[in-house]
Amino acid sequence: MLGIYVHIPFCIRKCNYCDFASYPAMLSRQDEYIDALIAEMKLHYGAHADTVYIGGGTPSTLTGDNLTKLLAALNENFSLSSDTEFTVEVNPGTVDIDKARILKKYGVNRISIGSQTFCDSELEILGRIHTSRDTTNTYELLRNCGFDNISLDLMYALPSQTLDSLNDSIDMIFKLNPEHVSCYGLKVEPGTPFHDMLANGKLKECDEDTFADMYEHICSRLKQNGYVHYEISNFAREGRQSRHNLKYWNCEDYIGLGLGAASCEDNHRYTHTTDFDDYVHGCALAEDYHMTKSEAMSEFVILGLRVLNSGVDKQLFYERFGESIDEVFSHALLRVSPYVINTETSLKLKEEAALVSNSVMCEFMS
Ligand code: SF4
Repeated sequence: MLGIYVHIPFCIRKCNYCDFASYPAMLSRQDEYIDALIAEMKLHYGAHADTVYIGGGTPSTLTGDNLTKLLAALNENFSLSSDTEFTVEVNPGTVDIDKARILKKYGVNRISIGSQTFCDSELEILGRIHTSRDTTNTYELLRNCGFDNISLDLMYALPSQTLDSLNDSIDMIFKLNPEHVSCYGLKVEPGTPFHDMLANGKLKECDEDTFADMYEHICSRLKQNGYVHYEISNFAREGRQSRHNLKYWNCEDYIGLGLGAASCEDNHRYTHTTDFDDYVHGCALAEDYHMTKSEAMSEFVILGLRVLNSGVDKQLFYERFGESIDEVFSHALLRVSPYVINTETSLKLKEEAALVSNSVMCEFMS
């Protein structure tokens, strides 16, 4: 069954590290954007899906009316299975009791909160609009509304972040006790304010050793606390892995609605434009590509290796491509042997190789 991703490109302010398709200046155009999204949904009318993920941007910046319209349209236009995992991203300080009730009413059962860090000075450097108190208030509001599946984001390798301040953020996560934690190391991307600050000497990037130390520290503390390290950057309580994101890593089909959103069906990948006007005036594409068999085989292995606890299923590879993974990638498998667990049935990245995963995956590129 399909996964459905919906992109909401609005934010109150652009964060200093952000290179996502988000446009604070377009906030006043959300009515026409929601209409364009609904027009796009109608093209897929009746499609069966069992995961929905509304991300951004900041979906919780939508007005109550637009949120209602969007959620009702998703329920009307898609055939959603009764156990659909339905996630909405929320940023602290942008959701109130009325919006939380709307989410609940239309079947949203998983919330991902953009907490990033619980250190206020780090939040300020990142250009976030919220304080750590806003995050805990938002978390408690959603818990009190009955959401029992919440994910928190944790960023590391931040300017001025120390192991002590990282530990404080981890302690706060343990206190809140979410079902899922996503961890991201800061990467300074071109076109962001951080990139300019780096060029002007106003920002110092975290060195490689500190980056690795922080990642390993997070892994170790979260695991000690009972979280399963199921994907390179993601941790979950048993049974609370993100089913939607697992579809990406397991190369299952998904459709993306909205600005900049990507879809992949039967190895046909297409991505919408990130130009707001081009999207609302006709859903223009920026990429439309049919993968070759060899590209699809590479992608299957590269994405599958991200999933640490199950890895790449060799039987599934054979069923999908009619060839044995051991034969297709015999040379690559020899080169990566120190970093993987290669059994008769699966190929898994060793957890201690997560930090060199990019080099391992490069060996499987077509
Ligand atoms: S809230 Fe998220 S999407 Fe919006 S500007 Fe900040 S990082 Fe980008």
